Amino acid sequence: MDYIVLVKQVPDVSNIPEDAWDREKGTLRRGLLDNVLNPLDLHALTFADRLSRGDPASRTVFLTMGPPAARDVLVDCLSRVPGEAVLLTDKAFAGADTGATAYSLACAIHRIERELFGGDRDYMIVAGMQSVDGDTAQVPPQIAEELGIDHIAYAKDLQLEPRMTIRRIASEGIEDVRPLRWPVLITVTACTDPLYRSFAQSRAARSAPIHEWNAKSVEADSTRTGLEGSWTQVYRLFSPSEDRPKTCEYVHNPVELIGKLAARYGSAAPGAALDAGEGYVLGDREPTYHGEFWVFAETEGDGVRSVSMELLGKSRRLADTLGEKVGAVLPCDAAGDRPAQLIAAGADTVYVLEHPLLASFDPLAHKKAIADLVRAHRPQVMLFGASPLGRELAPRVAYSCRSGLTADCTRLEIGDFDKGSVHLVGILKQTRPALGGNVMATIMTKDSPGQMATVRPGVFKVPDPDPDRTGEILFPPVELSTDDLGLESVLVESFASKVSIRDAEIIVAGGHGFRSRADFDTYLQPLAVGLGRLLGASTKVAASRMAVEDGFTTHDYQVGQTGQTVQPRLYVAIGISGAVQHITGMQGSEIVVAINKDPKARIFNYADYGIVGDIETIVPELIRATEGAA
Ligand SMILES: Cc1cc2nc3c(=O)[nH]c(=O)nc-3n(C[C@H](O)[C@H](O)[C@H](O)COP(=O)(O)OP(=O)(O)OC[C@H]3O[C@@H](n4cnc5c(N)ncnc54)[C@H](O)[C@@H]3O)c2cc1C
Repeated sequence: MDYIVLVKQVPDVSNIPEDAWDREKGTLRRGLLDNVLNPLDLHALTFADRLSRGDPASRTVFLTMGPPAARDVLVDCLSRVPGEAVLLTDKAFAGADTGATAYSLACAIHRIERELFGGDRDYMIVAGMQSVDGDTAQVPPQIAEELGIDHIAYAKDLQLEPRMTIRRIASEGIEDVRPLRWPVLITVTACTDPLYRSFAQSRAARSAPIHEWNAKSVEADSTRTGLEGSWTQVYRLFSPSEDRPKTCEYVHNPVELIGKLAARYGSAAPGAALDAGEGYVLGDREPTYHGEFWVFAETEGDGVRSVSMELLGKSRRLADTLGEKVGAVLPCDAAGDRPAQLIAAGADTVYVLEHPLLASFDPLAHKKAIADLVRAHRPQVMLFGASPLGRELAPRVAYSCRSGLTADCTRLEIGDFDKGSVHLVGILKQTRPALGGNVMATIMTKDSPGQMATVRPGVFKVPDPDPDRTGEILFPPVELSTDDLGLESVLVESFASKVSIRDAEIIVAGGHGFRSRADFDTYLQPLAVGLGRLLGASTKVAASRMAVEDGFTTHDYQVGQTGQTVQPRLYVAIGISGAVQHITGMQGSEIVVAINKDPKARIFNYADYGIVGDIETIVPELIRATEGAA
């Protein structure tokens, strides 16, 4: 078995110098950032190292696409894991989106197979889950789609004997997966044994073979590379602080704050948050795209995952502005009551893709069934939840339908685009955090038959079901055979009992400002209980990533870009600074309270009420105030 390890050079988003910010435009000057090996690729290196160690006859080839300076990351890789390397570099690749990048890398992989592996197809492609600059997780599944091979996402462990088995995180829980054929592409998410560079290896790395290939030498079709071959384009970059900042009312007395909260909570209107941009008026203009708005209905037990319901509610409102219909696509082995649930949530048509081979998730089989349906009906929009399953499936469906895809959106709206000779009317503007959450990017789809996006769970509200709504239930033919299955998987641990903080009406979150786990436990839970009792609402405690890293609680409770997105009616942030990655996960909350000893903390920009003060003084007073007011 041979191995190709995909790596990327990225700007160091964890260490942004002050002068790299363009405060006027709210963007980053990327040229002033240091370039490093994508930290998440270290997981792939570790994984590949473990694979190749047990197989001394194997060859390991590191592959990167980038400017000539990207050679540095290849030397870095070779100084940690012995092997050889390919640098794919050409001006023709500049400006590529994920689809064009995947295509170009797939061309290089064909050449590696032909020339370095002598045509042998017994190989594995290993990659990090995503890059910290783009953060899309789309390139690896789209490479797999271009190569027509299987993809195992979120791998965290592997076993070589008696048969190679990959342990991975799936939507339902932890699965053991076996590929049914080679090659296969694996994206690795948590495989963190440190891989240090030794002096001898670093010296050897400098003389290791690094092949430099260009677009012509990998026989890339010039209409499919770079900016020209891209199906999406960045429309606008802006600072996250532009995205719904609040005016904070500073309160000096905890008793006064509790009084204000009790009054405001009773009168606050749920569901008002984050639904900006729906007042679009098309008038008598001709829209650029025509067709239905579709949502992929992800199943969960006998029901449908709440993220799909959230997207149905949002699609309903977006489609209404253009006078279009909403469709839900439901792959399953038996539909049960789900079509009625989807119609009650806003669907006009439910396309039930019923087939025994769709009983559990297989990326190739699901992709084939959905992509066939998309090609037959040509919806103008298709949305997927950015769940583990959605993030794996959507890139393949989009690529196979030659459609642009924007990952992990936090805002969707209908709008126009006018620049130079390009005039687009009534298109879907897709906004998402980029560069590790340091900028927001609004992206639009171009040169595609449809517009596709994945959307973070919890960004939109689940609509109240309307049992009187009527709709059509269709059963389009599904043509699948066992040859379409690529993986064999067994669930080894269910997430059924996994904590969800999303359904709580009040969240009390703690950060690095707490001194210890004991303080975290002593203060947060009693305050949550007190507020819940006072306001008659369900409550949960939560945390920032720093608090999770401090060991105050587990990742299940983390709010933010790499945790959960929440939208409670009341969010209380205590000892949390308000880093963009945290804000991304809670900015849809209706009422935000911030407690921080630093009056300049960013969290106050997103708060309705703020108290400047020390946790140890303020929080006990707040707890007492909830008791006194009850
Ligand atoms: C790719 C990437 C993804 C990330 N994902 C997430 C994510 O999902 N969620 C997330 O939260 N972060 C995430 N982060 C990390 C994020 O950048 C911040 O480091 C993190 O949010 C900071 O957590 P904090 O606010 O608890 O800690 P800090 O930034 O250290 O803030 C602590 C705050 O507590 C205050 N404080 C200290 N002592 C007291 C006291 N006694 N009383 C009152 N106030 C006090 C301080 O003034 C300070 O404002 C991510 C980072 C990256 C690069």
